[in-house]
Amino acid sequence: MTEFAILGAGPAGCAAAIMLARAGRDVLLLERTAAPREVVCGEFLGVDAAAALAVLGLDAAALGGVPLRRLRVAHGTRETAAVLPFAAWGLSRLRLDAALQAAAGPALHRGVTVLGAAPEGAGWRIRTSAGEVAARQVILATGKHALRGFPRTGAGWIGLKLHLDGVDPGDAVALLPFVGGYAGLQPTPGGGANLCAAVRAVPEDWLAAVAGGSALGARLLRDARPRWTRPLAVAGVPYGFRLGPGGPPGLFRIGDQASVIPSFTGEGVALALHSGLAVAAAILAEQDAAGFHAAWRRRSAVPMHWAAAGAWALRAAPAGFAAAATIGPLARLVAGRTRLDISRGIGL
Ligand SMILES: Cc1cc2nc3c(=O)[nH]c(=O)nc-3n(C[C@H](O)[C@H](O)[C@H](O)COP(=O)(O)OP(=O)(O)OC[C@H]3O[C@@H](n4cnc5c(N)ncnc54)[C@H](O)[C@@H]3O)c2cc1C
Repeated sequence: MTEFAILGAGPAGCAAAIMLARAGRDVLLLERTAAPREVVCGEFLGVDAAAALAVLGLDAAALGGVPLRRLRVAHGTRETAAVLPFAAWGLSRLRLDAALQAAAGPALHRGVTVLGAAPEGAGWRIRTSAGEVAARQVILATGKHALRGFPRTGAGWIGLKLHLDGVDPGDAVALLPFVGGYAGLQPTPGGGANLCAAVRAVPEDWLAAVAGGSALGARLLRDARPRWTRPLAVAGVPYGFRLGPGGPPGLFRIGDQASVIPSFTGEGVALALHSGLAVAAAILAEQDAAGFHAAWRRRSAVPMHWAAAGAWALRAAPAGFAAAATIGPLARLVAGRTRLDISRGIGL
C-alpha cells in the first residue's frame, strides 16, 4: 500500500511527485516508457512554465532552451511579426521530460504501464504491467493518453511533430496556418527546428501542406531535412476538454487529464506543471478531489476560453491573423488572457 500513486510521468505527474516527495509523502510515480523520449509538442515554453519549473528547481535556459523573442504569422503571401509580450523558450520535450523525471528521484518507476484503476475499500487498486499496487489516493496524469474507464470528451485533433535540420527560424516562433490545420515552427536547442501541427486529417505530404500555406512557410522549409523517418503522431486530442465537477473520491486528475488547451494559442505544459503544483498543495492542505477539480476548473477557465478563441480565429481567419495591424494587439491580448495566475495554487 502506497499513499499516492501517480499515473504518468509527464510534466503534470512529475510536478506533483516532486512536491509531494519534498513534503515527505510516500509517492509512487508510474511511467510506461523505459527512458525519456520525444513526444508530440510544439515545445514552446513561456513565463508560466518557467515559473513552475523554478519552483521545481529547474531552469528552461539552463536546460538549453533557445530564447524566443518574436512571433511570426503568415498566410498566403501575407506575413507579419510581433515582439512576444513575455519571455519564452524553445526546449525539446526529450530534455524537459528527462530533467523533470530525474528530479522526481526514486519515486519514479519506469517501464510500468498502468492498465486500469478501480476503487477498493478506502483506497484504490491499480493494475499495471508489473503487477497490482494498492494506493490510498491516485493522481491520474497520463496526459494525451486516456486510461480505460476515464474518458475525455471533445473534438479529436491529430498532433504531428518532426524535428528538422536545414531550417533556421531564428529567434521566432512562426505560426503557419495551412489548408486542413495549423502548425508552429521554432528553433530547437543545438540548431534546426521543431515543426508541430494540429490537423483534423493527416495530409499525404504534411510538410508540403505546411509549406504550401504561406510564402514564409515555403521559405523556412525549403531546405528542411527531417531527422526522423516519420513524424511523431498522436490522435484524438480533445482540444477544449475540461473535467466536470464530481468524480470518484480519492482520484485527482491533472494536466491533460483535467483540461486540454488548444495548442499554439495556449500552453499545455504550463497548465500541466501548475496543475501538478496545485494538486500537491491541495493534497497537503487536505482538500478532497472534488474540491481540487472545482478550484482547477475555475483557475483554468479564462486561459482555456481565450486559447480556444485564439485557435478559432487562427483557423477561421488566418489572413486576418497574418495582418500587420492585428497581430501585435492580438498576440498581447491572447498572451495576457492565457496567463495563469502564478501566485495562486503553487502552495508556497
Ligand atoms: C500538437 C500539439 C502541440 C503542442 N504544443 C505545445 C507547446 O508548444 N507548448 C506547450 O506548453 N504545450 C503544447 N502542447 C500541449 C502539451 O504537450 C501537453 O499539454 C502536456 O504535455 C501535458 O502534460 P501531461 O503531463 O498532462 O501529459 P503528457 O505530457 O502527455 O505526459 C503523460 C505521461 O504519462 C505516460 N503514460 C501515458 N499513459 C500511461 C499508462 N497507461 N501507464 C503509465 N504511463 C503512462 C506517458 O508516457 C507520458 O510520459 C501541445 C500539444 C499538442 C497535441
